[in-house]
Amino acid sequence: PVRTRFAPSPTGFLHIGGARTALFSWAYARRHGGVFVLRIEDTDVARSTPEAVQAIIDGMNWLELTHDEGPFYQMQRMDRYKAVIQEMLAAGTAYYCYTTREELDALRAEQEARKEKPRYDGRWRPEAGKTLPTPPADVPPVIRFKNPRDGVVAWDDAVKGRIEIANGELDDLIIARADGTPTYNFCVCVDDWDMGISHVIRGDDHVNNTPRQINILKALGAEVPTYAHLSMILGDDGAKLSKRHGAVSVMQYDEDGFLPEAVINYLARLGWSHGDDEIFSRQQFVEWFDLDHITASAAQFNTEKLLWLNQHYMKQLPAAELAARVAPRLAARGVDVSAGPSLEKAVALYVDRCNTLNLLADAVETFYVAVAPSAELLAQHLTEEAKPAIADFAAGIATVAWEIPAIAALIKETVGKHGLKMPKLAMPLRVLLTGQAQTPSVDAVVELIGREGVLAALQKNL
Ligand code: GLU
Repeated sequence: PVRTRFAPSPTGFLHIGGARTALFSWAYARRHGGVFVLRIEDTDVARSTPEAVQAIIDGMNWLELTHDEGPFYQMQRMDRYKAVIQEMLAAGTAYYCYTTREELDALRAEQEARKEKPRYDGRWRPEAGKTLPTPPADVPPVIRFKNPRDGVVAWDDAVKGRIEIANGELDDLIIARADGTPTYNFCVCVDDWDMGISHVIRGDDHVNNTPRQINILKALGAEVPTYAHLSMILGDDGAKLSKRHGAVSVMQYDEDGFLPEAVINYLARLGWSHGDDEIFSRQQFVEWFDLDHITASAAQFNTEKLLWLNQHYMKQLPAAELAARVAPRLAARGVDVSAGPSLEKAVALYVDRCNTLNLLADAVETFYVAVAPSAELLAQHLTEEAKPAIADFAAGIATVAWEIPAIAALIKETVGKHGLKMPKLAMPLRVLLTGQAQTPSVDAVVELIGREGVLAALQKNL
C-alpha cells in the first residue's frame, strides 16, 4: 500500500516549499488510495516551538491537506529510538565509540595536513580479528552506525534518476550522542520504517542524507522506500526562494487575499506538469499526479501567474460565496456592509477588475462608507457643462424603472438632450457616486447603489 508522509521541522511557518512537499505527498497518497502521515520532527528542541507546530497545521488546514495518521512527534518516540539502538548494538550493526573531542580534532588536523577529507577513522569499529582498545572509564561514548565499507549504495530517485554513492565515502554516522539522545538521520529511518512509508517525497536538500538512511534501513531489515527528491524553488528573480521574496508563510497568502484553490493549483504546477494544462481542480490534480512528471530542474516562482490563477478562481466562485470571502475582510476594516447595497452584487460587478480578495474589498468598500470625492477629481470632472445634465439625470432617477437598461437609456437621453459626449456625464457620475474615476459600467454602478443612495449622493455633491 502507498503510505507517504510530510515531516516538517517545526521551526517556523509552513512556507511555499514545505507546502508543495506536503501537497505532492498528500496527492500521491490520495491518487493511490493510500495513507498520508504527518510527522513533526521536533528533535531540535532549541528551535522547535508549539507555535510553529500550530502554524504548520494551520497552513495545511487552509490548503485542506488532511492527514490520515498523526501528527506523530519525534520527541514522544525517544524510547522507541533508544530501543532500536539497543537492538542494533546487540546485532553488531552499531557500536560504542569512545573517541574524545580532542582526539577527533587531532585526527582532523592530521587528515587536513595530508589534504584528505576529514572523517572518522573507525578506531572503535569492531571488525573480525581486530582487537579494540579498552574503553576509558571517564569518557561517555557515542554510538555509531556500522556503515558497510565496500560496494555502493544506490537508489533510483523518482525525480533525479539513479544515484550511486560508494560506501567508502560514508562515515560511520553517530546515531546516539554521548548523552544518549538519538540523532536526526537515525530517527527519520526508524520513523519511516515504523510508519511503513512507501514513498518519501521531500526537498532535495535531503539527497545527501539518503544514502546513510538507506544503509541504516537495510541494517534494520526494513524495506527501502521509493525516494522522490523535489528540486528547489526559485523566487521571481531567479534567486533561491527566501524571506526577501515577501510571503514567507502560506498563511500570508491568505492574509494577502489569495484563495486556497488558487494556491493549490499554483503549487501543483510548481515543478510538475500535465501537458499544457494550467488550470485544474484539486480533484483533477489528484487524478493526474504522478512522480514521472516532476521536473528535475529548479522551479521558478511567478507571482503574475499566481495572481492570474487567483482571479480565475475568484471569477469561478458563485457571487454569494465570493461575497462571503470578502465580507470578513471588510468587517476587519470596520466597514459595515449591512447598510449599503448587496455585497453579492458589488463583488460580482468588480471581480473582473481585481485579482485578490483584498483588492476586491478595496474596490467595493466605497459603497459602504461615506463617499468623499477628492477636490482634484471634482475639479477635473464636475465641469460647468456637466452640472445641469447631472441635475436632469437626478430628476429622471426619481422615477426611472430600476433596472440597468432603463438607467442606461436615461443616461443616453440626458447626454443627448445636453449635447454632451457620454464621458462628460459618465465621469462626474462615477466620481460623485464612488469617489473613483475608474469603475465598471456606470449604469451598473447606479443600479447597484439604488435609487435613494444615488439621489442622496448627487444632491449632497451638487
Ligand atoms: N524535517 C525535514 C525538514 O523539515 C524533512 C525530513 C524528511 O522529509 O525526511 O526539512
